[in-house]
Amino acid sequence: MTNFEVTHSLDANSFYIEGADIADTKAPQVPIERRWEERRFRARLVNPANRRKLSVIIVGSGLAGASAAATLGEAGYNVACFCYQDSPRRAHSIAAQGGINAAKNYRNDGDSVYRLFYDTVKGGDFRARESNVYRLAEVSVEIIDQCVAQGVPFAREYGGLLDNRSFGGVQVSRTFYARGQTGQQLLIGAYQALERQIAAETVEMHTRHEMLELIVVDGRARGVVIRDMVTGGIETHFADAVVLATGGYGNVFYLSTNAVGCNVTATWRAHRKGAYFANPCYTQIHPTCIPVSGEHQSKLTLMSESLRNDGRIWVPKSGEDKRDPREISEQDRDYYLERIYPSFGNLVPRDIASRAAKNVCDEGRGVGPGGLGVYLDFADAMARLGRPAVEAKYGNLFSMYAQITGEDPYQTPMRIYPAVHYTMGGLWVDYDLEASIPGLYVTGEANFSDHGANRLGASALMQGLADGYFVLPSTINDYLADGPFPKVDPSHPAAVDAVEAVRARIDKLLSVNGSRTVDSFHKELGRLMWDYCGMERSEEGLRKALTRIRELKKEFWSDVRVLGMNEELNQALERAGRVADFFELGELMCIDALVRRESCGGHFRVESQTPDGEALRDDDEFAYVSAWEFGGEDRRPILHKEPLLYEYVEMKQRSYK
Ligand SMILES: Cc1cc2nc3c(=O)[nH]c(=O)nc-3n(C[C@H](O)[C@H](O)[C@H](O)COP(=O)(O)OP(=O)(O)OC[C@H]3O[C@@H](n4cnc5c(N)ncnc54)[C@H](O)[C@@H]3O)c2cc1C
Repeated sequence: MTNFEVTHSLDANSFYIEGADIADTKAPQVPIERRWEERRFRARLVNPANRRKLSVIIVGSGLAGASAAATLGEAGYNVACFCYQDSPRRAHSIAAQGGINAAKNYRNDGDSVYRLFYDTVKGGDFRARESNVYRLAEVSVEIIDQCVAQGVPFAREYGGLLDNRSFGGVQVSRTFYARGQTGQQLLIGAYQALERQIAAETVEMHTRHEMLELIVVDGRARGVVIRDMVTGGIETHFADAVVLATGGYGNVFYLSTNAVGCNVTATWRAHRKGAYFANPCYTQIHPTCIPVSGEHQSKLTLMSESLRNDGRIWVPKSGEDKRDPREISEQDRDYYLERIYPSFGNLVPRDIASRAAKNVCDEGRGVGPGGLGVYLDFADAMARLGRPAVEAKYGNLFSMYAQITGEDPYQTPMRIYPAVHYTMGGLWVDYDLEASIPGLYVTGEANFSDHGANRLGASALMQGLADGYFVLPSTINDYLADGPFPKVDPSHPAAVDAVEAVRARIDKLLSVNGSRTVDSFHKELGRLMWDYCGMERSEEGLRKALTRIRELKKEFWSDVRVLGMNEELNQALERAGRVADFFELGELMCIDALVRRESCGGHFRVESQTPDGEALRDDDEFAYVSAWEFGGEDRRPILHKEPLLYEYVEMKQRSYK
C-alpha cells in the first residue's frame, strides 16, 4: 500500500479530501490461476509449537467468525472469540435461506472455476478485484467438501449427488442448499467445529460481549475494548492479531432483512482508528421480500431468491386492473422480467430485478397496499411439478409467507417488493484480508470483499466460509510469524485511552436525557437513507440527505433519551451506541454515493443511465474501489482510490437481455 498523502480537495462542496491512490500488494504477480497457490507457498508458516505462544482475537461468530475461530483453534493458536448474542448459533448467518455457490459442475452444465469467477466479476458490475474473486471461485469447491465432512445435510438428488439450483445472474445450477435453511445448517456445522475447540480450550468464547473500541499499539491492532452486556463491565482484551467478522451494516436503513441486532459499530470503530472503509454506498436491495406492512414494523422478511427458479414475476398490464390476481388472464399480465430480459428472465441479478420492480410500481402498476408490490406466482410450477414437489423445495418459505401475510401462496401469488438485504461495502482489505491497520484482518460481510457493486445470490455464504476456513488461516500465519509481539497490558496508554473513550461515550449517551427514543432517530435516519441513498440516488437527493443527516445527528446527541444505567442489561444503551455509529456511517455512505457519479450494480445514479433506463457505468472515471480514511472528528473524510485492473475479464456494459 502506498503511503497516505493529502493532495487536494476536488468536490465543489468540499465534502471530502482526495488522498493518494492505494493498491493491493499481496497478490503475487503470476497468472491468476496460480496466484493463490503461490501466495500460500510464499506465506511464512508458524510451527505448531510456536502457535501455542500466539494469540488471536476474533470478533464475531457467524459463519465467517466461527469458521475462522474453529480453524485457528484447531491449528493451535490461542483464540478469544466474541459475539453479542447469547450463543454463536444466533448469529445473523442463521437466517440465510437459499444456498451457497460452488463451482463443482455436478450438473455438467458448463460450470467451472473460471465461469464462477467471470459471473461474479460481471455480476458485481466490474467493481471487484479480480485476484480475490478468482480465489473465491477456486476455494468454493473445497468449502462444500469441508461442510459435507462436517455433516451439513445438503439436499441430494435421488442418485446421491448433492443437488443444485440456480440463482440470479447465472445460467448454470451451482447453488448447494439445505431446503430454505442453508445458513442454519452451515452455521451448525461451523458451530460444532467451534465447540470442539472450546472444549479443547484453544478457543475461549465470550458471548453477550460487545466490542466497542479497537486498541492500536505502535501502529498494530493489538486488542479490543469490550462491554459485558449483562453487567456493563468494561474489559480490555489483547492479542497478537485481531480479526473482525462482524457482519454487514444494512440496518443503517432501519428496515432491512437483516437481524435487528446487526450493526456497524465494530468496523466503524476500527475505521475511526485508521482502517479504511471501502465502497460504503454499495448496498444490495433484494427484489423478493415481503412488502412493508405498516409503521410499527422493525424488520422485513426475505423470500429467498431460490423462489425465482420456479416462480414467475408479473404485474397487471394496466394499473387500473384491481382484480384478484387469479382472475387476471394471461394476456392482461406483464411478465416484465421475461419480456425485458429474455435470456435470463426471472433470474436476472438482484439489482436489475429490484429496479425493474420499482419501475413498474412507479408506473402505477404495483399491487397490494400502496401499490408497492409485484406478484411472484407459482401457478405454473404447481401445474408442472405438482404441489408435493413445490412443497419439498420451498415448503418452509411458503409457510413463513403464509404466517406473516395470512395468505396462502399455494393458492394465490405471493406479493413481493425490494428491500435492503446486504452490504457490499465494508472495511478495505488486501489479498491477505488484512486491513489498512497492520494486524487487523476482516472477514465475511464485514469486509468490502469480492462482490463489487452487486453480490450474486448465494455468494455471501461462500465468501464468509472461504475467508474463515481457508483464506485467513493461510494468510494470517505470515503476519503471526513475526510474533509474539511485545506484551500489552491494560495500563498501556493506548488501552487506557480506548477505555476512557468508551466510558465517556456511554456516560454521554446516558446523560443527554432528552425527549426522543433511540428508535425514533433510527427510523428517521433509515427513511432518509432509503429515500435518498437507496434504490435510486441523485445529486440533489444525496445533498439533501447529507444536510438532514448532519442536523439529525446533532439532534440525537442533544435530545436522545436513554433510560437505565450502564451497570445492567440495557438494550436501549446498546442500541443508542449503534445508532450513533450509523449516523456517521450514513453520512459517509451519502458522500461515497455523491462522489461516484456513475451507475453500477446496486448504486443507481439517475443522472447516469442508458436511454432504456439501464445502469450506465463510467469506466474511465470510476473503475476504482473507494477506500475512505477517517479524517478526524467533524473533519472531511479522505478518499483513496484503488484502481481496478481487468486482465482476465473484458470490461463491458452488462447485458442480461
Ligand atoms: C434473510 C437473509 C437470507 C440470506 N440468505 C443467503 C443465502 O441463501 N445465501 C448467501 O450466500 N447469503 C445469504 N444471505 C447473506 C448472508 O447470510 C450473510 O451475508 C452472512 O451470513 C454474513 O455472515 P458473517 O459471518 O459475515 O456475519 P454475521 O452472521 O452477521 O455474524 C456477525 C457476528 O459478529 C458479531 N458481532 C457484530 N458486531 C459485534 C460487536 N461489536 N461485538 C461483538 N460481536 C459482534 C455477532 O454477534 C455475530 O456473531 C442472507 C441474508 C439475509 C439477511
